[in-house]
Amino acid sequence: MQVCSKCNSNTNDDESLCPNCHADLTKYSMSAVSLATLKANPRVKAITLSVSNTACPTCKSMQGTYEKEFVPILPIHGCSEPLGCTSVYQPVLLEIFP
Ligand SMILES: [Zn+2]
Ligand SMILES: [Zn+2]
Repeated sequence: MQVCSKCNSNTNDDESLCPNCHADLTKYSMSAVSLATLKANPRVKAITLSVSNTACPTCKSMQGTYEKEFVPILPIHGCSEPLGCTSVYQPVLLEIFP
């Protein structure tokens, strides 16, 4: 499932445009916006792809921590969950020493 960041509509993983506001979901889904924000944050040194316990095998195989340039795009291609991919991005922050 994708969520449009502009109008909060839920959309199937295979749609590339929001059916409600026609935003480009490759740029404006919640996942895409969150990834762009994390990539732009210099304190984020890497990004963890976090999947739920009930995620499909495809998603589970993608779970892990990635360099910013190599983070897989959500929703994960080939996800077989009935409601769509539920994976999320989590930042790995640089430690700030006092
Ligand atoms: Zn929308
Ligand atoms: Zn999946």
